[in-house]
Amino acid sequence: MASATSPSVRVRFCPSPTGNPHVGLVRTALFNWAFARHTGGTMVFRIEDTDAARDSEESYDQLLDSMRWLGLDWDEGPGIGGPHAPYRQSERMDIYADVAKKLQDAGHAYDCYCSAPELDERRAAARAAGRPSGYDGHCRDLGAGQVEAYKAEGRPSIVRFRMPDEPITFTDLVRGELTFTPENVPDFGIVRANGAPLYTLVNPVDDALMEITHVLRGEDLLSSTPRQVALYKALIELGLASYVPVFGHLPYVMGEGNKKLSKRDPEASLNLYRERGFLPEGLLNYLSLLGWSFSADEDVFTVAQLIEKFDIADVNANPARFDLKKAEAINADHIRMLDVKAFAEACAPWLRAPFASWAPEAFDQAAWEAIAPHAQTRLQVLSDITANVDFLFLDEPVHDEASWAKAMKGEPAALLTTARAKLEAADWSSAEALKEAVLAAGEAHGLKLGKAQAPVRVAVTGRTVGLPLFESLEILGKEKTLVRIDAALAKLAA
Ligand code: GLU
Ligand code: ZN
Repeated sequence: MASATSPSVRVRFCPSPTGNPHVGLVRTALFNWAFARHTGGTMVFRIEDTDAARDSEESYDQLLDSMRWLGLDWDEGPGIGGPHAPYRQSERMDIYADVAKKLQDAGHAYDCYCSAPELDERRAAARAAGRPSGYDGHCRDLGAGQVEAYKAEGRPSIVRFRMPDEPITFTDLVRGELTFTPENVPDFGIVRANGAPLYTLVNPVDDALMEITHVLRGEDLLSSTPRQVALYKALIELGLASYVPVFGHLPYVMGEGNKKLSKRDPEASLNLYRERGFLPEGLLNYLSLLGWSFSADEDVFTVAQLIEKFDIADVNANPARFDLKKAEAINADHIRMLDVKAFAEACAPWLRAPFASWAPEAFDQAAWEAIAPHAQTRLQVLSDITANVDFLFLDEPVHDEASWAKAMKGEPAALLTTARAKLEAADWSSAEALKEAVLAAGEAHGLKLGKAQAPVRVAVTGRTVGLPLFESLEILGKEKTLVRIDAALAKLAA
């Protein structure tokens, strides 16, 4: 039950629609979502699109599409609405103008007429003198005459929030109690000279109006928190908010070379993981481990288990390291966890589209269903399916010259000729019998199975690595297998 003292959890995910979604953003969305679902709270999805120059509709569509793909559903927001609609800040401009005016009327904000060169000059002077270099409060208490004079000059003004003169303290859910002293948090702009409200205003105003109880976001935003706490207190005084939300700052994610993973790093792009065929559950599982852990000895779990266990209080303040290998290994485990039908369906995007030559009639559903269980136990990402099964659907195997050169060493023609004869005579109803045939061919030429099967594999599939060979041959069938060995022999003879 919501009440003024213990409101039920309301969290928000509030990205700006600029560029492609990245894994840091998804981690933030996930932690908010998992906390909402764990507590039976409400997930609010808000779009912070107040920067017309950087925001795009395309990015907005991508954000929604990404959230849907990941299965991170929201209770209020785009496409659903809710009691605090609209959820796009570009549609809430009147609200911000009204709140800015109220803040100003109550003395919590003031017009600042300082020009950029003036600010720069004073900042440099303060630095040189070893004083704090933030805004110096020049326009805090201008006399009416001075204001008139600035106006007469035609000076533009921004609106600045007046920070209280005492320290700001709050208890971060991840890092404990934090205190910021006034000299480190100077008065800050909330409305531009052209009247456009800034993030510093719209973000806490919406958090207040949307009754957000917990602000969970990246550590990079920690420096804005004391300002937001102060602004919240002003909003409470104005009757626009009833409590300061609790903050929790999620640890940095480090990439290659122990540098902060940047949204511009290619491995940070969510689309990359989608295109490579990560399962949403696999990716969410991995991303949840960036700052949190499921248990001491288990790091593979379902989304349902994640929800059951997730608590923001268990998030670790230490930087987390993004480890692609581990992400792939966890994804592989999730591929194994699917039932084989679901696996076969999940592979669909990578089964036909990649090769124009896979005409609908070339796609053999029965062959696919037969090979799918073998693939399911071996793939790390779904996009790998293409190279593993294309030999079943192409008229000829892919021509990979490097594989050919590697496998066709020694006397490949002699070996292939024997293998062909043994395979022709073999019982094709069992992969084991095909293995015996190739084993026998190898023995005839003094080769172990591994060396004997390499030319057969390349002749039939085009590649040196792939799914278990004898099952592959069985599924491809006798006729096609022999034709491909003949083609390889012709190529060797040419
Ligand atoms: N729109 C802001 C961002 O994407 C939200 C920051 C916040 O969560 O407060 O950085
Ligand atoms: Zn000023």
